[in-house]
Amino acid sequence: MTSISANLQAVRARVAAAATAAGRHPDEVMLLAVSKTWPVQRVAEAATAGQRMFGENYVQEGVDKIVALDLPGLEWHFIGPLQSNKTRLVAAHFDWVHSIDRLKLAERLSAQRPADLPPLNVCIQVNVSGEASKSGVAPAEVAELAAAVAALPGVRLRGLMCIPEPDGDEALLRERFASLRRLRDMLNAAGLELDTLSMGMSHDLDLAIAEGATMVRVGTAIFGARTVREG
Ligand SMILES: *Cc1c(COP(=O)(O)O)cnc(C)c1O
Repeated sequence: MTSISANLQAVRARVAAAATAAGRHPDEVMLLAVSKTWPVQRVAEAATAGQRMFGENYVQEGVDKIVALDLPGLEWHFIGPLQSNKTRLVAAHFDWVHSIDRLKLAERLSAQRPADLPPLNVCIQVNVSGEASKSGVAPAEVAELAAAVAALPGVRLRGLMCIPEPDGDEALLRERFASLRRLRDMLNAAGLELDTLSMGMSHDLDLAIAEGATMVRVGTAIFGARTVREG
């Protein structure tokens, strides 16, 4: 079995190679290690190997790990579907939320963000795949949602996130990622200052980086195949 440390090195090399091939600097792409379903010991191993940013999909599981690890300098990203009745824990414990798909979520997170913490960083999740996907806001509705989220005091709108259909071929995935970049460019041209494109996972991070990803969310290639049932 390869170690988490060796996997991390390999993924970092892959990220750097994809960035360089796209004429970008490797430092422009952040690596988010998706630790969902893995026990806290695995996260600690990755942290020891120098990984700082971790992504979790389930509120209670994520909060348990954040509390158990309590290492300085770690950054926690909530990347899964979020129910309105679970926002309080997320606002209190996480640094980022990637999966904003309605104003009510952002309003609750903003109101519930503890006053002694900096604003919660958020991304709007966009459905770039049309009927092939259920999650995320439709591209035509992003501008209105983004303007409303950007006006909230307790959150800071950082960018956009997408999860294209997993069975898409290379050309289709590239087009999905490119469409998210064009949306970000359009919002910035309209006056927003979005610096984040959260896109790319273990199987398609190279394509996402070629299309402008600034943050790739990688689980399997770092921790191995998940054996625990999700959800
Ligand atoms: C699980 C998950 C990932 C990581 O997927 P891998 O294929 O294991 O790299 C990335 N983003 C989201 C939103 C996820 O739920």
